This record gives sequence, C-alpha cells and structure tokens, in this order.
Amino acid sequence: MRMEEERAFIVDGRRLDGRAVDELRPIKMEVGVLHRADGSCYIEWGGNKVMAAVYGPREVHPRHLQESNRAIMRCRYNMASFSVEERRRPGPDRRSIEVSKVSREALEPVVFLGYYPRSVIDVFIEVLQADAGTRTAGINAASAALADAGIPMRNLVSACSVGKVDGELVLDLMKEEDNYGQADMPVAMTPRGEITLLQMDGHLTREEFERALEMAMQGCRRLYEIQRDALIRRYAAPEQPEPEKPEKPEEEPQESFEQDMEEFEESEEVSENDE
Ligand code: UDP
Repeated sequence: MRMEEERAFIVDGRRLDGRAVDELRPIKMEVGVLHRADGSCYIEWGGNKVMAAVYGPREVHPRHLQESNRAIMRCRYNMASFSVEERRRPGPDRRSIEVSKVSREALEPVVFLGYYPRSVIDVFIEVLQADAGTRTAGINAASAALADAGIPMRNLVSACSVGKVDGELVLDLMKEEDNYGQADMPVAMTPRGEITLLQMDGHLTREEFERALEMAMQGCRRLYEIQRDALIRRYAAPEQPEPEKPEKPEEEPQESFEQDMEEFEESEEVSENDE
C-alpha cells in the first residue's frame, strides 16, 4: 500500500499518458451502427470500447411489470469476459447490477416516459474493452442511442469522471489512476447542469469536491458536443453541391409555341377562305 501511495502519477504537470490534469482521453463516437436496434451508438474513449443499443418503446414482457401511466426503462450494463486483463466470469455480478441501476437512473430523468404507457424501453450497454470510466462511456453512448431511436427526450445526458491522484484533481481517470488513485467521482448531467449521477469512491475535501464538480462540468460539456456532432453527422442531410448547368447544345433554335400557333391560325384562315 505504501509503495502505491508513493507512485508518481503526475510529473511536470503531465500524467502517465501525457495528458494535462484537465484533459480528456481521445474520444470517437458513431451513432446508428446496429441495424436491428431502434437506436445505437458506439464509443471509443481512450482504451474503452463500448456499444449501446436501444429497443423500444415496445410491449412489456413479463406483463406484470408494465405501468399504466408511463413506460418503464430497463438498462443492462454488461462487460464482455474478454474486456479486461483477467478473464471476467460471464453473467451479472454485484458491480454490473449496480452500474446497470445507476445508468438507468442517470438516463430516466430526460426521457418522456409518460408518452408511452404500458411499454418498455430497453437499453443495453456492452463493454467490449475496459480501461476505467466504462459507466460514463456507457451513459454517453446510451443517451445518444436513445436519441437515435427517436425517443422524445428533454435533453442529452453526458458523463465523465473526475478523480484525485498524487493529491491533485484530474479529469477522466484511466485504469492506473482509477486503481491506485485517492478518489474517483463519476458524474452525469444535462447541458443545463442538472446532475443525474454522482458517485464517489474515496475522499475529497469540500473545496476539492466543488472544484472537481466544476471540472466534471467542463468534461460533460465537451462530451455533449461530441454526442451532438455524432447525431448531426448521422441525421443532417449532407450539403448538396450546386448541380452543374448543362452546356446548351448549339442547335437550330426551336420554334416557339406562339410561332406554331400563329402558323396554325394562318393556315386555318386560308382554309376558311378556300371554302
Ligand atoms: N475492471 C476489471 N475487472 C472487473 C471490473 C472492472 O478489470 O471485473 C476494471 C475495468 O478496466 C474498469 C475499471 O476496473 O473500467 C474501473 O472499474 P469501476 O468499477 O471503477 O467502473 P468504471 O470506472 O469502469 O465505470
């Protein structure tokens, strides 16, 4: 334990992967990647690779779960057995049940569940590769996938974590910082700053907590832009280039309709006079 505390995670203001303390890992996001799902989103965030799929609103099975005045939302967070260094035993465990619950609670407040009584919206979050921050990656992807499914929402939910290593606050922990750091605080919020998830592992002073929340807000703002851009890329019609005007062929000019009519009327007159 002592050795872990002495590890240097920040040297000359740079972290183990070269990032500044308030820098996110590189992020790539794509919406609409699964054709059988109603909505889907794939995110790569540092070493994390996470897929989210949304199905519904659809009929609830088993039926006794249905609510007469609103849709229910189910969320299943799952880590593939090959997603981590040591093979993970397949199936739900305490941690994945917890992450499923907090992810659902992070997303539910923005969805107009009242629009779809007696139905269910199913959200699946599949972690293919994990490197800390998978719950926040999953929430970002699931939120964009809900929008991709066309489900009415008040807003998107964006998430990122803040933590403490070597006594300093850092944005978006990677695995080593998560495992050996002094605190880890995943946060999810709407762009209006309404917090829908806030968890804390470790200790922060009140002053550190306030600064950490401010950093998380900056991170979530950046995530929101990434989600919005991914949705725009999928749905905004690409700008059409001006069609090139075909060059006019140099032909004999066509006689106009008026000319035709004049000729026709003249010929009629001639034939009338003949009679
Ligand atoms: N992890 C692991 N095996 C597990 C669960 C987690 O190796 O069974 C790793 C994984 O890289 C994960 C990290 O530990 O991303 C941090 O897990 P945590 O519970 O803090 O959740 P997360 O940060 O992924 O939301």
